[in-house]
Amino acid sequence: MIVRFKGLLWVPGLLALLGGCSRDEPPATPVAPPAAQQAVAAVAPDVEWRQHGLNAAETRFSPLADINDDNVGKLGLAWYFDYPTARGLEATPLVVDGVIYTTGSWSMVFANNATTGELLWFYDPQVPRSWAVHGCCDVVNRGVAYDKGRLYFGTYDGRLVSLNAGDGSLRWEVQTTDPERPYTITGAPRIVRDKVIIGNGGAEFGVRGYVSAYNLDSGEMMWRFYTIPGNPADGFENDTMKRAADTWGGGEWWVVGGGGTVWDSMAYDPQLNLLYIGVGNGAPWNRQIRSPDGGDNLFLSSIVALNPDDGSYVWHYQTTPGETWDYTATQHMILADLDIDGVTRKVIMQAPKNGFFYVLDRRTGELLSAEPYATQTWATHVDMATGRPVETEGARYVGAATGLHLPGPIGGHNWHPMSYSPDTGLVYIPAQDVPWVYQTEADFHHRKGYWNTGTDSRAGAMPDDPATRQVVLDAIKGAIIAWDPVAAAPRWRVDHAGPWNGGILSTAGNLVFQGNSSGQFVAYRADTGEQLWSFDAQTGVVAPPVSFRLDGTQYVAVVAGWGGALALIGGDALTAGPIPNRSRLLVFKLDGKAVLPPAVAKTLVIDPPELTASPEQVALGFKEFSTYCVFCHGDGAVSGGATPDLRALTPDKHAMWDSIVLGGLHWQYGMVGFGGELSKEQADAIHAYVIERAHFALDREAGGAAENTDSETSTEGGGN
Ligand code: CA
Repeated sequence: MIVRFKGLLWVPGLLALLGGCSRDEPPATPVAPPAAQQAVAAVAPDVEWRQHGLNAAETRFSPLADINDDNVGKLGLAWYFDYPTARGLEATPLVVDGVIYTTGSWSMVFANNATTGELLWFYDPQVPRSWAVHGCCDVVNRGVAYDKGRLYFGTYDGRLVSLNAGDGSLRWEVQTTDPERPYTITGAPRIVRDKVIIGNGGAEFGVRGYVSAYNLDSGEMMWRFYTIPGNPADGFENDTMKRAADTWGGGEWWVVGGGGTVWDSMAYDPQLNLLYIGVGNGAPWNRQIRSPDGGDNLFLSSIVALNPDDGSYVWHYQTTPGETWDYTATQHMILADLDIDGVTRKVIMQAPKNGFFYVLDRRTGELLSAEPYATQTWATHVDMATGRPVETEGARYVGAATGLHLPGPIGGHNWHPMSYSPDTGLVYIPAQDVPWVYQTEADFHHRKGYWNTGTDSRAGAMPDDPATRQVVLDAIKGAIIAWDPVAAAPRWRVDHAGPWNGGILSTAGNLVFQGNSSGQFVAYRADTGEQLWSFDAQTGVVAPPVSFRLDGTQYVAVVAGWGGALALIGGDALTAGPIPNRSRLLVFKLDGKAVLPPAVAKTLVIDPPELTASPEQVALGFKEFSTYCVFCHGDGAVSGGATPDLRALTPDKHAMWDSIVLGGLHWQYGMVGFGGELSKEQADAIHAYVIERAHFALDREAGGAAENTDSETSTEGGGN
């Protein structure tokens, strides 16, 4: 609390000085500085947020304490800015030289005055809306990187772009991916010395993962590190890939791509000069198909340390050997120095999807602890002698489906950043339990450009039977877990109404900030979890807050706007209830007086045509919906809030079904035509299933309260 004490001392001094200035006559001699300069000199120094995770260690702990556990009740909205879109927002704002830079849906970039909100410029990289079909988890972007007056960001269609920060003009752009493959970029680049590092995504669809480094000045590629081997018949890029290939076997993983995308997290230790990358899941998920002879399938689901000068391999730790559940290790990684057993260890910490919290020695990758932070059924524990998980019977779903499994593909923790406070010694995890039923897809074949997981999504669908449904709903949770990484145990927990809550900021004011799936932006005491303040954000908040101080005033900023993976597929699993997307940048300060316009709720009207299809057609529709549609339009055709609810299609949209679904009439909203992939019979069957789901909703609610989905997403989604 030293910083805060200083802050309290500063304020009276500043007031006295300002008071003196206002009373005094102008100075008689030119020796004294002008009054304005005196005031500036007395104001607490500016503290900005110039890197994605605040620093290379990615701690997301603000040293500011002007806003603290005593006065946070007076926090109010300073200003807000409306984005022109209504899809997911996941960006970390950067604040540099008084300007706040955010990225929005479709990889757009916005520059606003950080104290007034005035829009200075915006840049639209013109991502083809049809590329949305090649992404798993909404058309999101997690932010820009900044260096010496220049910005860097990735685009959804795989480009790395550099802009002049001053006016948003284009410096250069390069295609970092093969446009013939369904690659996407949603993660923020990182700057390491003279290079900008960028990964990519797409493992659900069929790509091979890698991370690339580009020259900051020229955009020339300096190196590329593949995370998994390609086709051995083509030879290997290096010895590391040759070694990795020994852990794969029996399948043609390179046809689907193999996966291992580096789609989000990185960290950098300048002393050790090590770049840490988090590697994603296999493509397809199902190892029985991807690598039928078994094996660990390096470097899937691993933390890999690289030499950032040349991209060479240094060490790795694989969190989930032989990954088969979409258990990415792309989740946020934090570097810290911790006293463990009397020794100060340089550690790297991660809560990957698989439910265990890992503390590793970041010099060597040595495992220091691995304990469950979320409910998990796939392993009894991690063997500290071998560093490997001890899997439970049936976890690999060989043969028939084996019931509810935790974590599911959404993970015990997803991309939403954690925060590590050196004041409390706690890591704050936006954790969740979202179960899934894994089942091997019976007739798997590679569908080029579409979902290819090797699992049958129907097995994980929300059951219709009320009792079974309740069992699933009861297993779904969302929480902040304050994790003690030294004791390898939770210290406190705050439960939310549902899963898929926001990233986290902690501050020296003994505060933790987080938005949530209920549409609230909340401050808690960092040491106890006591809720101290909340703000009605009118929309789900998934992005992480930041804090900064300009001209003596501390601000907290967060990008609000419901979206992302679970906002697409969530359906009834979103137990916090329906939530609309209202896309805004919200900036707060003490005694802020700005007010959001009133939120106008829209009622979901489910009024389907008569169901005339046969049960067989509906069943076929369920199968095809689960293969092609569910990932954007929601489990059971229940909208997660980021795309229109198909159960509420209007009669004119029903009449246009073929034109939209096969012909691509709504391509400009991201709804491409599936005419090259689906037959008229399949499209009709999906239509029948959607109508059947609408009737199911009406039947379920008949006698109870009407389902009231407040969704404004159709302002952009239109009916896609
Ligand atoms: Ca994945």
